[in-house]
Amino acid sequence: MDKITISDLEVFAFHGVLKEENSLGQKFLISAELYMDVSAVAKDDDISKSVNYSDICKEIEKFLKKNTFKLIETMADRLARHLLISHKPLRKVCVKVKKPWAPILMPLDTVSVSVSRGWHQVYLGLGSNMGDKEANIKKAIDLLDKEEDCRVIRVSTLRITEPVGPVKQDDFLNGALHMQTLRTPHELLDLIGRIEKELKRERDVHWGPRTIDLDILLYDDQIIQSEDLTIPHIEMAKRIFVLEPMAEIAPWLRHPVLDKTMTELLEIQNFLQEVELHSE
Ligand code: AMP
Repeated sequence: MDKITISDLEVFAFHGVLKEENSLGQKFLISAELYMDVSAVAKDDDISKSVNYSDICKEIEKFLKKNTFKLIETMADRLARHLLISHKPLRKVCVKVKKPWAPILMPLDTVSVSVSRGWHQVYLGLGSNMGDKEANIKKAIDLLDKEEDCRVIRVSTLRITEPVGPVKQDDFLNGALHMQTLRTPHELLDLIGRIEKELKRERDVHWGPRTIDLDILLYDDQIIQSEDLTIPHIEMAKRIFVLEPMAEIAPWLRHPVLDKTMTELLEIQNFLQEVELHSE
């Protein structure tokens, strides 16, 4: 990917753990690698279409003077996120914060922290089978899109599907969406949990009715297995009601464990369903 680099921009600001650092201030040196596609900008030789590095330098200074952080780790993280959120063409940002006057009472060149942050490609499964199902799903999508570190890119058609499992309940409305986020997988899991709570999802009956069900299907091509989170979603490759909307919005996307596209996985499940119907 193309990149613009800013090196050692000097900013005098008031960050630090010690109160003297917060009152007297000190010099910080900020470097930023800004990843974006510059081909269209370069073709027209037009600065209005680019990320103007002079504006970015002023913005870095303004941001670091307006906010006070104890740690250079936090400075670097917040600054990278701020730049990504406020400049749409940026895909990824690496920020390095150097502190040349670190108060350690020893000779030192600089101490520094580097962070790399970027937009992650995520697919969510959507479902509802209580109340106004379409309104519930739309509300959940609005709540996601309202977060400054989440951008909903594309939503599939919503389709009616019969419930799976032993509990007798109303039909579901199901779909999937593609979004971008700066959140880590667990931060995203917390967010969808909060949205489910806000939409008053009932959790009394396992596999039972729910006003809203949000699942993380895929997060980039990451494979995650932890106590509370499995990505790719453990059931996604078996569920036609997930694969149909996924094949609609991302037909050539590959499942990182099974190494099959969404279209191939859907064809397999449709075939298995037909075999099952014929054997009954
Ligand atoms: P359910 O409501 O049936 O989708 O289950 C929600 C629970 O599944 C949550 O407590 C999560 O911790 C866990 N879980 C594990 N993997 C995922 C995933 N990929 N997306 C959403 N929830 C997950």
